[in-house]
Amino acid sequence: MMVKQKIRDGTLFYECEECHLLYEEKIWAERCEDFCSTHHACSLEITKHASKTNS
Ligand SMILES: [Zn+2]
Repeated sequence: MMVKQKIRDGTLFYECEECHLLYEEKIWAERCEDFCSTHHACSLEITKHASKTNS
């Protein structure tokens, strides 16, 4: 699985393909995607690092 890169308002974000949250740091998007695909749920410890831009 590879996180997706997305440009929002001129800023590069990384998207978890499982839950579609956006992260400014690739490492968190990868951790989110790992967790989401394994547990089919999000980890609050990970999603708190997500960008607010997505909502
Ligand atoms: Zn996720």
